[in-house]
Amino acid sequence: MDTEIRKIVLKNAIDYKGKASAKSVVPKILGAFPEAKKNIKEVVEKVNALVSEINSLTLEEQINQLRDLAPELLEKKEKRKKSLKDLPNAVEGKFVARLPPEPGKYLHVGHAIGFYINYLYTQKYKGKLILRFEDTNPQIPKKEYYNAIREDLKAINIHYDQEIIESNNMEQYYSYGEQLIKENLAYACSCSKEEISKKRRNEKECSCRNRSTEENLSIWKAMHADVKEGEFIIRLKGNMKDKDPLLRDPTIFRIIDAEHPLQGRKYRVWPSYDFAVAIEDGLNVTHVLRGAEFLQRTPLQNHIRSLLGIKNPEIIHYSRVNIIGGLTSGREIRKLIQEENTTWDDPRLMTIRALLRRGINPETFKLLAINVGISLAETNLDYKHISGTNKKLIDPIAKRCFFVADPIKLIVEGAPEKEAEIPVHPKNEKLGKRKIKTNGVIWLAKDDLHEGKLRLKDLYTIEIKKEGEEYKAKFLTEVFEKGTEVIQWVPSDFVKMNLIIPEGKKLITVKGYAEPTIQNYPVGEIIQLERVGYGRIDSKEPEVNVIFSHK
Ligand SMILES: [Zn+2]
Repeated sequence: MDTEIRKIVLKNAIDYKGKASAKSVVPKILGAFPEAKKNIKEVVEKVNALVSEINSLTLEEQINQLRDLAPELLEKKEKRKKSLKDLPNAVEGKFVARLPPEPGKYLHVGHAIGFYINYLYTQKYKGKLILRFEDTNPQIPKKEYYNAIREDLKAINIHYDQEIIESNNMEQYYSYGEQLIKENLAYACSCSKEEISKKRRNEKECSCRNRSTEENLSIWKAMHADVKEGEFIIRLKGNMKDKDPLLRDPTIFRIIDAEHPLQGRKYRVWPSYDFAVAIEDGLNVTHVLRGAEFLQRTPLQNHIRSLLGIKNPEIIHYSRVNIIGGLTSGREIRKLIQEENTTWDDPRLMTIRALLRRGINPETFKLLAINVGISLAETNLDYKHISGTNKKLIDPIAKRCFFVADPIKLIVEGAPEKEAEIPVHPKNEKLGKRKIKTNGVIWLAKDDLHEGKLRLKDLYTIEIKKEGEEYKAKFLTEVFEKGTEVIQWVPSDFVKMNLIIPEGKKLITVKGYAEPTIQNYPVGEIIQLERVGYGRIDSKEPEVNVIFSHK
């Protein structure tokens, strides 16, 4: 048992930077050896002695000791990387998944995560990925969205192998619909919407169910010609007493007289969402990976396929991703766009293009997808998760830049003319150095300005005194003394810069000056404004605009 205790203490020390704590070790020991509870005093004494012995070792010595005793405990920590769970019946080379957007709005981060899950599995199984536009309600799709979706997928590095546009497959849906009518598995119903929902609630069939096949077929034909919208729909003969209300004779075709952005007025009888999806998934896809919000549609879609003699794909649900604190609903976004004359990449939004514009690295979407994975637990995702993941990716590469908000001019008496050489990145030496010329005139952020000793970062130390309303500065030394407060500054050839900060529904602009180096960076560059946060250069004309990413 002594060896076991030693393992636990060593592991605890290694997990916490070389310092084990008796408080966290004792419960672990009692968990592993319940009988030790009888001699708890003895155990505590032993642990205390062991903790001080092991804490006096270096981390390296601790790791070596644990490697001798229990190498498997070390491996665990290194192996933490998450990987994709295996899927049922997935065969390498034969796997087919799909991305099914409705071209009724721009994609948001929720789509990006779901699409990445599909894309990563396609890679894992060396399969095929289909981009499928679900556009069989002609009132929703708009031409601009088809292209925007293709562009956004490209921008976040998701590559698909084939594209299917459902509205191009109308004849196929018609022939399956006609098959059901001929087999007396579907019927034309002329009841009002109210009647239909009332009968569904009360589990009652309507008399339309008794129409003859011939009559149903002739109504079906007429629906494509002169029947008025709403006069007839085609319903599946389900089971009006089924526990699942979706199976109580669902609508599979209805007339919608609207111009379709791709098909124009060629069709007026449109399949329901479930009918088109059931067919497409069954015919073209081996694995449907979709959010848990679609769980309830599976029985109906499987039922439709069983009536049509189409095989079911494997259907796997991943956790529903709730996006907190950001606009994602198409209706709300459209309202904002109209009211404020803005666009779908407005940095307040959680659309893919808004997030990219805000400086989110495409890789972030992939990492978020791996984290969500295929568990059914609901995931609440807010901007903090996105920015936390993003920070790890961009911090090692984001070039540093000084920025002072609400700048105040200061003449530093006795300051030498100097060219400061400052690392572009504090750790990444490959990024080189930036040079900033100074002539004793500097600008500081209003909030940083106060009496006393201040270190202008990587330049020199000054002393500030207030005389009346005015601040006077005096050069002290170039030598940096530990403990001096360090602040940002910009020289007299500063560049005017606006920092645009999305905050909830507001967009706040902070005016200030940036160091001249910022002119060297192209639009799209992600930089770190030291002590302010990360941002992406959004435009440079007429002034430099940087959109704030996160701290
Ligand atoms: Zn009816």
